[in-house]
Amino acid sequence: MPTRWLNPRLIVRACIFLLLGAVTNVMVAWGCVFWIPATPSTTKSVHTWPRHNSADWPKASAISAATRPGFSREAWYGDNTDEFVARMREVSQAAVNAARNSDDPATSFRLYKDTVDSMGDPRERMPLRSASCDQMAAGWPLLSLYCEHVLVDEVFVSGPSAAGTRRFESTTGWNIPDWIPWRDRRLNVRRRIPLEPLPLELAANTAFYAVFAAGLVMLTNRMRRHLRRRAGRCANCNYDLRATTTGACPECGAAIPPRATT
Ligand SMILES: [Zn+2]
Repeated sequence: MPTRWLNPRLIVRACIFLLLGAVTNVMVAWGCVFWIPATPSTTKSVHTWPRHNSADWPKASAISAATRPGFSREAWYGDNTDEFVARMREVSQAAVNAARNSDDPATSFRLYKDTVDSMGDPRERMPLRSASCDQMAAGWPLLSLYCEHVLVDEVFVSGPSAAGTRRFESTTGWNIPDWIPWRDRRLNVRRRIPLEPLPLELAANTAFYAVFAAGLVMLTNRMRRHLRRRAGRCANCNYDLRATTTGACPECGAAIPPRATT
């Protein structure tokens, strides 16, 4: 009995349908990116996709989220302004306290400066950092492809060599070029073609479409055979059997089921 399932033709057919299912899933997911509007509907965090680039993140909060069947998007923003200001306050307080130890202005200034040097001037060592992360997932019936876009901006307020800005940008998607028209242009939200598979969801969608395609093919075959038989033709090869009296098709040899007609 189990050998029936090892039939090479069946395996090849199953593989073809699975491939078809996977391709359909990707096409549907990418189609959703273009066609499903995702106007932010709530500020509540809906998904907890892991961010890859989370180590350097200041505390971040979701600023907008939109989830619809087929497409979901969530934007995050965070900065370290509070941390930066707290550190500045801490250093200057310590320096002022140190300066109080002397009445001589020159010594007082040296004590102040030494303290700042030993603790590190936040403006030189600690960049003001802001980070934004855009997470998108698309796919139907399940969200199956994911993309994350991270933008980290660092500003060094002052410093002998490090003054300036730095920007890190990384994405696991493909930016939709401007010449392709898509719906969210007016919201100034850039959409990306997600390239990162969410394995479980991808497998489930692939199976869903594969079963759907196999069912469709089976139904078509059955329908075709039924129509041929009704027209008095061989269900197997469409050969005209109206003049045939034997129990087998003269063209392909298939057995002819006894007809109910007289
Ligand atoms: Zn036949």
